[in-house]
This record gives sequence, structure tokens and C-alpha cells, in this order.
Amino acid sequence: LRGHDVTLFEKEAELGGMLNVAVIPPHKEELNNLRDYLTYQMEILPVHVRCGEEFTTEKLDELNPDAVIMASGSKHIIPPIPGVDGENVVTAIDVLNGSASVKDTVVVIGGGLIGVETAEYLADRGRKVTVVEMLPSIAQDVGPSNRWGLLSRLRNKVSVMTDTLVTGITETAVFVRDKAERQAEIEAESVIIAVGLCQQRGMEDAVRASGREYIAIGSCCEPGQIFEAMADGFSAGIRV
Ligand SMILES: Cc1cc2nc3c(=O)[nH]c(=O)nc-3n(C[C@H](O)[C@H](O)[C@H](O)COP(=O)(O)OP(=O)(O)OC[C@H]3O[C@@H](n4cnc5c(N)ncnc54)[C@H](O)[C@@H]3O)c2cc1C
Repeated sequence: LRGHDVTLFEKEAELGGMLNVAVIPPHKEELNNLRDYLTYQMEILPVHVRCGEEFTTEKLDELNPDAVIMASGSKHIIPPIPGVDGENVVTAIDVLNGSASVKDTVVVIGGGLIGVETAEYLADRGRKVTVVEMLPSIAQDVGPSNRWGLLSRLRNKVSVMTDTLVTGITETAVFVRDKAERQAEIEAESVIIAVGLCQQRGMEDAVRASGREYIAIGSCCEPGQIFEAMADGFSAGIRV
């Protein structure tokens, strides 16, 4: 809109990023509308959209842009728990995007937004789900207007253990320890990792080294909510 010649690289086949996964759990219709709106803007605005193309140093040299805005998102943190590399252990994102299959008894490690939404999604599909959270309560990162509804729905669908740490994973169980140092074993044919996201900024060093104007936005700066990513994007758009 300000007259820049803009090229957008997306390494996946379609636009939407993590929103494509965020809209899969139940009751995400509003987010789905936002994802569709943002994607549609890329159809009607004069932006060169290059889906299925990773932004690499070769692309940087090829286009020779004046500025690079990095919006490369985030990835799952994998906690250093013994057994976390087992075949029955997958991430919440893999579950929601359909790339991982999940058996009948499930432990979700992490009771933030992503963990509890994935737990509800699986419970609705007939899985017996236990969420294990090290903090005193779950869904602490969910806004007050959504949190109440989410927690009341979960009450009848999912078992929750708070103030509890996962200490080990086997092919059939998860071992936990609570604040009082009590240990327990929970049956789990599948284990879902949802302990948080971390920044993914693979190209940062190369772009910085090239001396071009560089702005990082969204969850590649700080994994968070979509409105924060959009506000970052707006600020970058009026700055560059
Ligand atoms: C299960 C789940 C539920 C969520 N629910 C909500 C919610 O209810 N409300 C809310 O506000 N937020 C929610 N979020 C968070 C929301 O999805 C993020 O805040 C938002 O997607 C961040 O946008 P982004 O553009 O910064 O990063 P992303 O959406 O992660 O997009 C980054 C994109 O960059 C691409 N990419 C990375 N490297 C390269 C490269 N070298 N070349 C080309 N492309 C590259 C990736 O493929 C990806 O498409 C949820 C997230 C998850 C996982």
C-alpha cells in the first residue's frame, strides 16, 4: 500500500503459517476467519507470493532487496526428558496437522493453550487424555474470555495433573513426580509434547551479515498470540 515492491516467501505449499494448525482445535472459527482474511489479502494486494519456496542466501542474492522482514515463526521446544526420543512421542503441532497418529491412551506434557487445545481435540476423537502441567493451573496463557469456556469443557473430557513434572517416558507409560515428591506412573501409548515454542530464525545471521535493513517480527521474535504478530507486522510496514 506504501508503494514498496514486496516478495513474500513461504516454504510450505500454502500461506497461513502456524494459524493453519491453530484453527484445527474446536471453537476456533474466529481465528479461521482471520486466517482466511489475511490469505485473501495476499491475493488482492500487489505482493509477489512465492509459496513452496524457502528463503535462502541464494534467494537473498537473487532478489537483492533493500530490506528483509523476517517472520519465520517458531517451533516446539523438546524438553530433555528421558525417553522423549521414543517413537510414541510426537509434538502437538504434528498431531494437529495430521502428520502423527495417536493411540488410545494419551499424555499431553504441558497445559498451556497448545496443550489443552490439543487435549480437547484428541478427547473429542475418543482418546483417553491426561494433561500433565508443572505449574499450579492449566491454560494460564489463555485470555479470560476464552479460558472459562475452555476449562469448563475440559472438566468432563480430560484428566489434569497440575504441580506435576514428567520425569520419564517409556513405550507404554509416563512417570511423574508432584510437589510433595510423590511419584506415579500413567498409562500412555502416545505422548504429546506441548511445553512451549521457541524462535525459528535460521536466516538471521546471513541477512544481518549482508548489511541490509533487517526487521524480525511475530513469533520468530517472541512466540505469542496472532494479534502481537500482526501488530509487529504493521509496525515493520510503516517503518521500512
Ligand atoms: C495449536 C495452536 C493454537 C494457537 N491458538 C491461537 C489462538 O487461539 N489465538 C492466537 O492469537 N494465537 C494462537 N496461536 C499462535 C499463532 O498461531 C501465532 O501467534 C501466529 O501464527 C504467529 O505468526 P507468525 O507469522 O509470527 O509465525 P508463523 O505463523 O509460525 O509463520 C511463520 C511462517 O514462516 C515460514 N518459514 C519459516 N522459515 C522460512 C524460510 N526460510 N523460508 C520461507 N518460509 C519460512 C513457516 O513455514 C511459517 O509458515 C496458536 C498456535 C498454535 C500452535
